[in-house]
Amino acid sequence: MSARLIIVGPPGAGKGTQAGRIASALGIPAISTGDIFRKNVADGTPLGQRAKALMDAGEYVPDDLTNALVRDRLAEPDAEQGFLLDGYPRTTAQVEYLDALLAEQGAAIDLVVQLVADQEALVARLLKRAGEQGRADDTEETIRRRQQVYQEQTAPIVAVYQERGLVADVDGLGTVDEVGDRIAEALTTRGLTAAV
Ligand code: ADP
Repeated sequence: MSARLIIVGPPGAGKGTQAGRIASALGIPAISTGDIFRKNVADGTPLGQRAKALMDAGEYVPDDLTNALVRDRLAEPDAEQGFLLDGYPRTTAQVEYLDALLAEQGAAIDLVVQLVADQEALVARLLKRAGEQGRADDTEETIRRRQQVYQEQTAPIVAVYQERGLVADVDGLGTVDEVGDRIAEALTTRGLTAAV
């Protein structure tokens, strides 16, 4: 089905896990800017080389690079009928860019799912993941910096979508299935039916 969705929430809230589930239930691609950047870092591309130090420090990659990457990804045929963006937009400039990009196609965002969770619980979750997955930016110092950058730059953009009546808040604490069920309910309530 056609659905243009965003999943937002602080680092560690489980966006990536839930994004995959929602996207496969709706038959749309889940597009994670963090995953795309990590792949570029791993492949040693010019983009990866520019992004690596910033990511390792918990800082955002510049908007122009991020916006260009999303523009190219959304131009792929699989995103024509819809998509779920995970980790984008994250700044006011990215919101404006995405608005303009979608407007060119006569499209718009249908819903923003916001995963809500207590910050200390998230720090604990990410420290646990650090031991399991070894992500370069999962050190305690970087985790705390990522939380801070999120509060400063990304929390405010949610208000923009709230003003448009597009935000569904979902409690992000609980098992993967519990959170998935809450998201499925939020989608159904808004006519975006899916067995997540
Ligand atoms: P997290 O769950 O910690 O937010 P992500 O995988 O979404 O992790 O992002 C990891 C890093 O990739 C971010 O800390 C940032 O450096 C970079 N990044 C991802 N998406 C964006 C974006 N939209 N704008 C700027 N930087 C981004």
